Amino acid sequence: MENQPVDRQQVVDLVCDWFDEHRRDLPWRRSTPWGVMVSEFMLQQTPVQRVLGPWQEWMQRWPTPDDLAQEPPGAAVAAWGRLGYPRRAQRLHRAATAIAEEHDGQVPRTLEELRALPGVGQYTAAAILSFAYQGRAVVLDTNIRRVLCRVEQGREFPPQSPTVAEWREAEKWLPDQAPAAAKWAAASMELGALVCTARSPRCEDCPVRELCAWRAADYPRHDGPPRRGQAWHGTDRQCRGVLLDLVRQNPDGLAVEVALEAWADRVQAERSLQGLLDDQLVQRDGELLRL
Ligand code: SF4
Repeated sequence: MENQPVDRQQVVDLVCDWFDEHRRDLPWRRSTPWGVMVSEFMLQQTPVQRVLGPWQEWMQRWPTPDDLAQEPPGAAVAAWGRLGYPRRAQRLHRAATAIAEEHDGQVPRTLEELRALPGVGQYTAAAILSFAYQGRAVVLDTNIRRVLCRVEQGREFPPQSPTVAEWREAEKWLPDQAPAAAKWAAASMELGALVCTARSPRCEDCPVRELCAWRAADYPRHDGPPRRGQAWHGTDRQCRGVLLDLVRQNPDGLAVEVALEAWADRVQAERSLQGLLDDQLVQRDGELLRL
């Protein structure tokens, strides 16, 4: 059965009203553009609860891009702590350096300039423009994609990666005025994070339950390709995390042999250590490893 076209304006209004009442008081929502940018880097692959503490510490230590740019990249990697995917720390440091050198220390305010910064892709540029400057941009994260897919398409999950067609569809949802567009981006993302979650949507608390196509169709299950899991245990990524933690805990240098013995699979440990060295997340000085 064909879905009835959804009244987009009505959905936008309801979700934005809901947001006024239910939005979380996240510290980066009261911060500078740089604070927003740091949060977006940290949130790329890490949940909000794990980002709150490191974000506060980061902003106290480096309240502006200039402050971070004056330090070596290793300091950023060390401060990244257990957030995971530490290459993000290196990229954030490179982005801070570019902002200090090319933008007079100010986070740029156009999509083009933002996208030219290291580590800033289409999503992150749009999010910074929208959340830091209340600009008009299509912000398409996993939460927003899921909400739009359910409300409009009547399907449980969108495809693994956004298609061009999906970007175009998302643009149709965007209010014309920049502040209203920015609010819609924040509100729809919040709805996906708090109510329309991947595994247990709380439809009884949802402001658009009467308009949702997936609910109206009685929740047909996802029948596309299997969704990527978050397999981690025993992977190179876990091994890299263990090695990097050890190096971080030994600022005066950690013997290579001690690091390799910390992981049961020697071949995997050597491969992972080589990856950290290739990515310059760890430096080797003779038989010692440092950040
Ligand atoms: S009604 Fe349920 S499935 Fe539909 S948008 Fe709301 S929470 Fe998500």
